[in-house]
Amino acid sequence: MTWDPRNVIDVKRAGRAVATPDLRRLIEGYVTGEVGEGPMAAFLMASVIQGLDASETAAMTRIFVDSGGTLSLTGIDRPVVDKHSTGGVSDGVSLVFAPLVAALGLACVKLAGRGLGHTGGTIDKLGSIPGMRLDRSLDAIAAQACSIGCVIASQTADLVPADGAVYALRDATATVRSVPLIAASVMSKKLAVSSELIVLDVKAGSGAFMRDVASAVELAETCVAIARDHDRRAIAAVTDMSQPLGEAIGNALEVREAVEVLHGMRRGRLRDLAVAFAARSVAELTDDVPEDARARAEAALNDGSAAAVFRAMVEAEGGDPRVIDEPDAVLPSAPVELPITAPAEGFLGATDAAALGEAARALGAGRARPSDPIDPSVGIVLTPKVGDRIEPGQAIGVVHARDEASARAAIDAVIDALTIVDGPVDPPGLIHRWIEEG
Ligand code: URA
Repeated sequence: MTWDPRNVIDVKRAGRAVATPDLRRLIEGYVTGEVGEGPMAAFLMASVIQGLDASETAAMTRIFVDSGGTLSLTGIDRPVVDKHSTGGVSDGVSLVFAPLVAALGLACVKLAGRGLGHTGGTIDKLGSIPGMRLDRSLDAIAAQACSIGCVIASQTADLVPADGAVYALRDATATVRSVPLIAASVMSKKLAVSSELIVLDVKAGSGAFMRDVASAVELAETCVAIARDHDRRAIAAVTDMSQPLGEAIGNALEVREAVEVLHGMRRGRLRDLAVAFAARSVAELTDDVPEDARARAEAALNDGSAAAVFRAMVEAEGGDPRVIDEPDAVLPSAPVELPITAPAEGFLGATDAAALGEAARALGAGRARPSDPIDPSVGIVLTPKVGDRIEPGQAIGVVHARDEASARAAIDAVIDALTIVDGPVDPPGLIHRWIEEG
């Protein structure tokens, strides 16, 4: 009988496990064009609905890794850490973490992704810096890891191309929200690059793909188990995404915010989480005790050493290094800026972070279809965090837009996304729990 992708879809639709050779043929066929978008999308939807068991998830991860080369960083003289977020809103942690750990004596080599759904992507953010070339060759990544200790690059034809193709199709077909599909996607990018430690930021809350802590824990445990099965060391933190992590949502705006954190000029949850991940990585990979690692991480943000690594990374990747000292001279800015004012008095009780991500996407910061261009300049800055006191008419943010109509629509969406209550509200914690290797 000739192989037919419809038989594979039938198996998954019926809730049965797909044999590894069929999964391989399907995914590899999708990359070469032998399997069309329609059958692949149907298979992904069946997988979201019926789930994938542990061996199917492991097989999918392996097939993604095998679709390209792998990067062995044997020549590098410091411990290598890799970090990945499962996706959030105003989640610029990687932009801070990678140069920060490099300033602390580790190396960070990270394959990152584009924006997915309502969430932002590190590749799109860095792509807002004029000149940046993020699809690097394996040799260029390895050389930069040795020279600077900090590389953020996109997956390419050389590195996990199958995940790149499937990731774009999932974005277009509402098939992102699935523990096994996210785990295979994230872990394939981490397994393709050798590292001593994989640090995973698994988001939980209104702005995350996993809306509650229990499903985020399941995703974290699935990812850590995949690493263990490949003899790789991974730790995961389930972190709060019940509101945007930082204040900026949108690509150039998030780079500007990360630059302020890297210069030690900006406090808050974005800095706190980047420091927590950096300190934990240093404590895992060196002799530093956690308190010393944390103190050194704080110092590297305050003394300019993390900022210097970011500058070197941008320059090595073809970008304009002035972004670190004069971001406004380099980063694109939107023609229309309108203030957002508080609609009522009270305390910020909740923020619908996904709605804010969608509002930024509608402004042009993200894509509706895989081939859509994005506008790096547009987005939203929203200052208050859950628990903050709000006065009526108070300036709480700015919308950056291409035109006044889209700016006004975004302001309405932001106001709708906020719940203002009468009584005080406790701010949510930042890290719900750590998940270690079992
Ligand atoms: N990040 C990824 O790399 N893949 C996903 O599926 C979700 C977030």
